[in-house]
Amino acid sequence: MQPQIILMKEGTDSSQGKPQLISNINACAAVVDAVRTTLGPRGMDKLIVDAKGSATISNDGATIMKQLDIVHPAAKTLVDIAKSQDAEVGDGTTTVVLLAGELLNQCKRLVEEGVHPHAIIRAFRRSTTLAIEKVNEIAVKINKQDPAELRSILEKCASTSLNSKLIHQQKDFFAKMVVDAVMSLDILLPLDMIGIKKVTGGGLEDSRLIDGVAFKKTFSYAGFEMQPKHYDDPKIAMLNIELELKAERDNAEIRVNNVEEYQKIVDTEWKILYEKLDLIHKSGAKVVLSKLPIGDVATQYFADRDMFCAGRVVEQDLKRTIKACGGAIMTTAHDLCDSVLGTCKRFEEQQIGAERFNLFMGCSNTKTCTIVLRGGAEQFLEETERSLHDAIMIVRRALKHDAVVAGGGAVELEVSRHLRECSRSIAGKEQLFMAAYAKALEVIPRQLCDNAGFDSTIILNKLRARHAEGGKWFGVDVMNEDIADNFTQCVWEPALVKINALTAASEASCLILSVDETIKSPRSTQDNGPPMPGRGRGRPMM
Ligand code: ADP
Ligand code: MG
Repeated sequence: MQPQIILMKEGTDSSQGKPQLISNINACAAVVDAVRTTLGPRGMDKLIVDAKGSATISNDGATIMKQLDIVHPAAKTLVDIAKSQDAEVGDGTTTVVLLAGELLNQCKRLVEEGVHPHAIIRAFRRSTTLAIEKVNEIAVKINKQDPAELRSILEKCASTSLNSKLIHQQKDFFAKMVVDAVMSLDILLPLDMIGIKKVTGGGLEDSRLIDGVAFKKTFSYAGFEMQPKHYDDPKIAMLNIELELKAERDNAEIRVNNVEEYQKIVDTEWKILYEKLDLIHKSGAKVVLSKLPIGDVATQYFADRDMFCAGRVVEQDLKRTIKACGGAIMTTAHDLCDSVLGTCKRFEEQQIGAERFNLFMGCSNTKTCTIVLRGGAEQFLEETERSLHDAIMIVRRALKHDAVVAGGGAVELEVSRHLRECSRSIAGKEQLFMAAYAKALEVIPRQLCDNAGFDSTIILNKLRARHAEGGKWFGVDVMNEDIADNFTQCVWEPALVKINALTAASEASCLILSVDETIKSPRSTQDNGPPMPGRGRGRPMM
């Protein structure tokens, strides 16, 4: 009898070796199946109900993966790559998950046959490098000098991205809007300078782009309705001051012995407030915005002097106002001079649907804009916002990195063909693994066919034949159940989306392949497990 060596605490769960690897791959396959059907213009949407009972309808890979709340440690990697794809390029999230899943699927067979994972990993890394070189080689450069051409290219990229979304019927309308929005930003194209506001009611086509800032009317006090609601060329003061009477009540302790002393304190408070208000009034500002509350006294004061005020403005909105109108956020009412006051051509309050909005239009240095979305249900609007986000990201990418490729599986097939060719020149087992990688790439066109209800075998055979003859941009034509030159059909995507997807997918699959053991300490299972029963009645003390 050999003595048993106890290495880890009792209750530690560990499994290792090939079975562990296979089980990890299977877990990933289950995750991939969850998003598989959402790919492409004919993809389906998912309705996800979370623990709180709120429902999300989405077609976006990253959103679905985030909502799924996956606990399997290996499968979580897929969530991470979807998130990273979303953050890096903003589109192609389903693509990246599908690719990673299919790469793993191809490996499964090899691992079961006893191939060492490291041999596969090495081949995959090499294939990824070759694939990226190929994408770069075939990508078509955009000519940025001609504004009309640039615009039409950007619109095409945006509408390809919107093709697969719930709002694809209005894709031309939104593609224009998205391109307008992105073009109005400054060189760095900061995403948070495009505000998206949702107002239920009305039709999708009632959505509009406001070149400037718009935000919902904030909470207001009595007297607000007496304030004017529109100005031409107003000066705008942006403050971080509380214009309310209660300021010192909470954070000071004062002992008073008689009523006179108390009255003095109250009077002083009023005096301080009025001093601030007078300063603001004197500065010539017509519109007063503050991050902090503006109370009823101040509201009435402004109303009496033909001024407009809004308190509790969200910081993001205030920042965008500064970007658009100039000026700065002030923490004191002193030194309110023209250089810190913003201005715009027109300020007005407008009724949009059931909401009232403050609009700042015709701003001097517009580097921001606001999309006001209209539409039926709340969830529909949310999905619209996510779809626009994808399209905005794509247009930004296309502007920054000026190379596009044809979508609809065309690039994937071309790269796949290239890799097959390369693999033939390699001796040894690596040839097999590279072929497996090439095969995995075909998952994109195949899934596009499956989701559209086409016979994927027939279409893929046609496509392979076409690519072998040099038709490098041939991809799935989802409208006519056929193949088509997707470059002339204007199904375009920035090359960067594909490059990032290839890199991320192969990194993720290599990561999962390199894990052959999972050790779960008993502590962490307890944290996640059901709550332990309480103490007492003979149960052990914890
Ligand atoms: P992802 O989250 O990966 O962006 P999508 O559901 O947006 O997933 O689908 C994108 C895929 O659909 C891309 O491969 C793209 O090339 C393809 N696609 C988009 N529009 C068309 C179209 N009109 N015809 C064929 N394929 C298209
Ligand atoms: Mg997309």
